[in-house]
Amino acid sequence: MLLRAGLNVPVADGKVTNQFRIMRALPTINKLRQAGARVIVLGHLGREPEDSLYPVYEVLQAHLPITWVGALHGDAVSAARDAMQDGEVLLLENVRQDSRETENDPELTDTLAALGEYFVNDAFADSHRNHASVAGIARRLPTYFGLNFMHEYDELTKARQPEAPALFLLGGAKFETKMPLVEQFLAHYDHVFIGGALANDIFKARGYTIGQSLVSEIDLTGSPLLTNEKILVPVDVEVEGPNGRRTCLPDAVAADERILDAGPGTVAMLARHVAIAKTILWNGPLGNFEAGYDTQTKALAQTIAEAEAYAIIGGGDTIAAIETLGCQECFTFMSTAGGAMLTFLETGTLAGIDAALAD
Ligand code: ADP
Ligand code: MG
Repeated sequence: MLLRAGLNVPVADGKVTNQFRIMRALPTINKLRQAGARVIVLGHLGREPEDSLYPVYEVLQAHLPITWVGALHGDAVSAARDAMQDGEVLLLENVRQDSRETENDPELTDTLAALGEYFVNDAFADSHRNHASVAGIARRLPTYFGLNFMHEYDELTKARQPEAPALFLLGGAKFETKMPLVEQFLAHYDHVFIGGALANDIFKARGYTIGQSLVSEIDLTGSPLLTNEKILVPVDVEVEGPNGRRTCLPDAVAADERILDAGPGTVAMLARHVAIAKTILWNGPLGNFEAGYDTQTKALAQTIAEAEAYAIIGGGDTIAAIETLGCQECFTFMSTAGGAMLTFLETGTLAGIDAALAD
């Protein structure tokens, strides 16, 4: 079994700093090996060609018997594969160490596909990419989806057809990447909250002074979003300027200040919607949490934790922002995906699914 797992976790000083995705990859590896399969695991990590999956191996080997090969192809891989016994698990090196991975190169695909008889894709979070180890192999080998993949698929499918009242909470940055989702979800959700740095684009288009705040590569001047009654935006903001931090109304920001979080009034406003919602879907932090502006993101997570709604949260930064809350039970479902979640919510499919379904 050639298994593509979602193992792209943050690493600092050679150690994994967040194990969330690894923990979600374990059930499929265990199910296959306990069924007696010889399992060869592929995954990617990071953006630099020298990034290694070795730190992921160190975490995995604390949970199951697994062998680190230290290469992606070549003699060491062939030798390790030929020596495998039933129920054994091998982890190969980061697929992105080979630049042909992201090009979906047919030769790399052939080399990898030759390692297995069946392909299992469990890497939902990576499956929006048309890469060799995700989409390429699915066109070569009989393909199945793993437990994590199916869990993501089922839960996010529910979010595409929400039970009303439905609340979509969108934060983070880069409005240009989230615009199609906003337009589509306005049709299915009763309210769409636009927060985080995305709200700055709305304030700017309304003609407010937003000072030094982060904006997207999009101009919303005259956009119908500005007058759509389903759209909610922060009612107060936390700003930082030469005179320190303060909370103010969105139209009272000074030219030398920068909006870095929502204010408490915003979460109070959202709490009224959260309390009556049957469905809540949340992607994107409300503030610049890495710089310490995480107060309202955490307050919103706690508000949702106390609510009855069917609640889904996803996004690499969003999950990281609430990590210290220890909030695994706050939500009905926490997606391991960021970009793939947005693509799936928008289109209902992913490159890795299309490749498996193609003849
Ligand atoms: P996710 O990874 O969960 O999908 P995004 O990548 O869209 O989320 O957005 C996360 C980024 O948005 C973070 O880097 C965060 O600091 C930033 N952000 C959110 N609000 C603000 C803000 N008001 N000013 C600057 N950055 C912000
Ligand atoms: Mg992000």
